[in-house]
Amino acid sequence: MSCVFCRIIAGRSGSEVLYQDEKITAFRDIRPQAPIHILIVPNEHVSTARELLDKDSSVLITMFSEAHALAEAAGIAGKGYRLVINTGPDAGQMVDHLHLHLLGGKPIQPDGMALRWKDRMT
Ligand code: AMP
Ligand code: ZN
Repeated sequence: MSCVFCRIIAGRSGSEVLYQDEKITAFRDIRPQAPIHILIVPNEHVSTARELLDKDSSVLITMFSEAHALAEAAGIAGKGYRLVINTGPDAGQMVDHLHLHLLGGKPIQPDGMALRWKDRMT
């Protein structure tokens, strides 16, 4: 099994699984970018949300719903959190298995939507 997230879903890695049901799995990001950084993934290996929409769009709803539940459980739902899906090379998708980042636990900078583009934006 070459996909690192498929290995985690199958329980074949040391990673602690925070949540799992028949559709999705959640686990902590190995290189956290925030005090709370959890990845929520479909159990089926798909690269993008687009692919999942074609197969079973209900899984996407489950992913977002569980992200909120995990934020509640982590005590950050009230203060706020960010959900991110990087899609494709321009967006910096490193792992080719769709994943929803749940990030929170401290306030982001006021320019929180500013992204660091490689070159000038235009
Ligand atoms: P992305 O750039 O959106 O593809 O994000 C991939 C994320 O997966 C990064 O934040 C990595 O730190 C994380 N990651 C890679 N390998 C593992 C792993 N074995 N367990 C948990 N998170 C991982
Ligand atoms: Zn996979």
